[in-house]
Amino acid sequence: MAKLMRAARMHAVGDKMLIETVERPTAAGTDVVVAVKACGMVPNLANVLANWETWYPQMPLPPRPAIFGLDPVGIVHEVGDLVVNATPGDRVYVNPGRSCGACHACASGTPQKCDYWTLNGYFGYNPSSLEMFKRYPHGGFCEYMRAPQSALVKLPDNLEFRQATRLGYLGTSYAAVKKLGPLAGKSLIIHGATGTLGVGATLVALALGVSRIFAIARGLPLLERLQALAPNRIKIFSNREGSTAAWVKSLTEARGADFMIDTLGAVASLDSFKDAMHGVRRGGKIVNIGGTAGELGVDVKWWMDEQMELAGSVWSTTAEGIELAGMVGSGVLDISVLQPKSWPLDEVNDAISGVSSGEGGFTSYLVEI
Ligand SMILES: [Zn+2]
Repeated sequence: MAKLMRAARMHAVGDKMLIETVERPTAAGTDVVVAVKACGMVPNLANVLANWETWYPQMPLPPRPAIFGLDPVGIVHEVGDLVVNATPGDRVYVNPGRSCGACHACASGTPQKCDYWTLNGYFGYNPSSLEMFKRYPHGGFCEYMRAPQSALVKLPDNLEFRQATRLGYLGTSYAAVKKLGPLAGKSLIIHGATGTLGVGATLVALALGVSRIFAIARGLPLLERLQALAPNRIKIFSNREGSTAAWVKSLTEARGADFMIDTLGAVASLDSFKDAMHGVRRGGKIVNIGGTAGELGVDVKWWMDEQMELAGSVWSTTAEGIELAGMVGSGVLDISVLQPKSWPLDEVNDAISGVSSGEGGFTSYLVEI
């Protein structure tokens, strides 16, 4: 007889999640089953549940009834007969990025470029994602989930489960910072610096040796808290006070910063993105990891004349997760400023609506299983 487990499931868009008893998955082939201990609560989940299929019809949610949950951590419970790199008892983060594993993009270590690219327990990027949801129907809001061994990031002893639920969003920031290239001696605008991605980008950029960070957000209290992480390297600016580009140029002998990362959330105005972008110097690079949608209106002559690079970056690879775990394990990256705020699985609906109750990107929201 099949073993059972508890899971939070959403039966229809607009419905609350129900805690139900469902069949527990088993492991076969190169898959494992992870006993979930905690799962990060994405600040954007309420938006995704309510609006995604209307806003972005090409990006499917998992078929209902669906088990959501993007950032699971737990203990490897069972391994398939072909698994070689995981053992029951391993403490792991499960990277939710799923892809076919067999195309040129996947073979090149860039699964985000795969036609099947999907964020498990969240949403897909095109109709092929439905195939991935079929293979891996479990997000992290349940007791046991099936995952490919290639998704596992082993956790160092000094990284507790609750903190490790932040590895996905830290990874998104880290992957963007890596795309900028070496940071030693360089300066970086972080636009939206006090949100989940912005605080992560700040921590990662400091660890990787950036000389100066120009941290931009609206509210000063959280900016001041961010600056306290490295007062000599971080300058802060509220863009309620005026132009970000003018402010950065006033501090860089009119040149501008070397790089910029934009992290603005789903409903932010693009005007501030456009303004901040012009605070980047000739030959600079701008990477967008925010959820803002819309037409930016880039002047292509400026783009050419100034030799600018504009890039988008989605999530991160398991390899990047392993790198981050190594950085935390060795103390190169200190994430102790991130404060967990958690709910039990039974209160998952409160968790979904509770993500604005903390202190911006300094709070990690999660469900404990
Ligand atoms: Zn592929």
